[in-house]
Amino acid sequence: MSDRTLDAVIVGAGFAGLCMLHRLRGLGFTARVFEAGSGVGGTWFWNRYPGARCDVESLEYSYQFDDALQQEWEWTERYASQPEILRYLNHVADRYDLRRDITLRTRVASAIFDETSDRWQVRTDDGAEVEARFVVMATGCLSSTNTPSIPGRETFTGAMLHTGNWPHEPVAFAGKRVAVIGTGSSGIQAIPLIAAQASHLYVFQRTANFSVPAQNRPLAAAEQLAVKRDYAALRTRGGQMPFGFDTRSTEVSALQVSDAERRAEYEARWAEGGLPFLGSFADMILDARANATAADFIREKIRGLVRDPATAEKLMPRGVVGCKRLCSDTDYFETFNRANVTLVDIAETPIQAITATGVRTASAEYAVDCIVFATGFDAMTGALTRVDIRGKGGRALRDKWAEGPRTYLGLSSAGFPNFFIITGPGSPSVLSNMVPSIEQHANWIAACLDWMRARGLSRIEAAPDAEDAWVAHVNEVADATLYPSCNSWYLGANIPGKPRVFMPYLGFPAYVQKCDEVVAGGYEGFVVG
Ligand code: FAD
Ligand code: NAP
Repeated sequence: MSDRTLDAVIVGAGFAGLCMLHRLRGLGFTARVFEAGSGVGGTWFWNRYPGARCDVESLEYSYQFDDALQQEWEWTERYASQPEILRYLNHVADRYDLRRDITLRTRVASAIFDETSDRWQVRTDDGAEVEARFVVMATGCLSSTNTPSIPGRETFTGAMLHTGNWPHEPVAFAGKRVAVIGTGSSGIQAIPLIAAQASHLYVFQRTANFSVPAQNRPLAAAEQLAVKRDYAALRTRGGQMPFGFDTRSTEVSALQVSDAERRAEYEARWAEGGLPFLGSFADMILDARANATAADFIREKIRGLVRDPATAEKLMPRGVVGCKRLCSDTDYFETFNRANVTLVDIAETPIQAITATGVRTASAEYAVDCIVFATGFDAMTGALTRVDIRGKGGRALRDKWAEGPRTYLGLSSAGFPNFFIITGPGSPSVLSNMVPSIEQHANWIAACLDWMRARGLSRIEAAPDAEDAWVAHVNEVADATLYPSCNSWYLGANIPGKPRVFMPYLGFPAYVQKCDEVVAGGYEGFVVG
């Protein structure tokens, strides 16, 4: 191996890149992380909008690779805010001395596989090149922002912001007229806080979303201590749940209990707060009739929370609870009771243009000083296809994936040897608590490299038939659920022209078991040499 050849290039320094670097270094591999941002943290570096916080409890939305780390870190809230999670990730970078192998402000532009040497030539946007035996894409499922190309956008004279690329200095909304476009998780978190400052807030809603109260609160010391006394128990419990965190999921069908029992369950989950609402009944996301009981319950809550019946009606989601990611909020629906907040239903009166001074819909023009795009991401594939990745025969990954992503286990794609993706399409990723999913992938990849080194192997690649079978299985699992029934970003439906393919894999425990079986079978489904 030449001196300038690294064992691995890791792209991205969020939860995934940091963990991967730590794992590889621990096994004596050389690795370098390239990160486009000027700091580590990924999602939590970029998404600095007011109200940004996790929707999986902090005690679970955190690394478990080192018990000392999970014992010593003190979370202050049930759902940590963005600044706190960013502090945590910076602490991790320092504690494990990761920064010396991280190059910031550097975007990977291309990665080309050289079949004669079994090496990747990685080029960064500053023109530098580095050679590596392996490439690990830790580029994130939700890191490639989507700003719709609304006519006239470039003519707007006020400030334009995207929640996923928020300025580092505080944004002052006081005395300003603000438009927020988008009511997904980001919009729903930001809207109450922007409304509290702005002179007037216009919320442009295309599709009403289901949201449950987060019931966020400070974490009591005793509560945190109780978890830390037996952290492993919480981690094990979470790992056994379909979404990889403790949703207190039951085996009971919503259709097998009485109306009173069902209501009591929903009320209890509503009061408890957050995404465990989805664990109320086993068939919530499998059976339309079961799901409708939850949808009715949430609509009734909205009716009770929003004083103006016409506004309440517009805020009521019509689809399937959880089909688009369930949102978790603090005072979202209540915000529409404020005199300085107007809901604009753009399903009824679509946005026609952005003008120099505001937003024009089919029925009115709204003069604003600032537009906030809470319009989401080119999810799961965007960050991967924006890099020119070429495998065997010079084939581009973006060409191979033109009809939708194809992977084996979400970790690897046939024709791209020694190339791994952390939480790639076809893995539980965004349908799970992502930190354990990230760690599971980083552990799997590190163990794989170690296994290859022990056997003097230089190449590993997904076998095409194993990949075909896995893609079919991912679809089969999704098709047995209600997930394909709505226009979600899980399906790529939020990006015009993106192929409609369900990308994540549902079922964290079954997935982990499959990955373990593949290893036990001598990396079954992979071609090694
Ligand atoms: P990211 O954190 O996205 O990091 C990827 C990094 O790669 C980025 O910093 C990016 O700049 C860099 N990068 C990408 N392409 C290149 C390139 N070509 N060259 C160099 N660098 C590149 N998940 C949960 O499970 N629970 C939650 O509560 C939760 N809350 C979320 C809240 C928000 C606002 C968002 C947007 C997402 C949330 N997620 C949540 C999902 C979240 O993305 C993951 O939990 C996790 O942070 C992903 O970590 P990552 O390292 O895989 O990717
Ligand atoms: P999102 O869920 O994709 O929501 C985007 C919103 O913008 C939707 O309301 C969408 O409407 C709207 N929109 C998109 N294009 C539009 C257009 N051309 N015109 C008008 N409206 C448009 O994005 P997000 O809110 O950033 O969340 C993405 C994911 O990140 C979440 O699902 C979640 O996984 C994660 N996240 C989590 C948290 C958390 O609570 N911890 C917070 C933020 C993000 P339609 O529905 O009609 O497409």
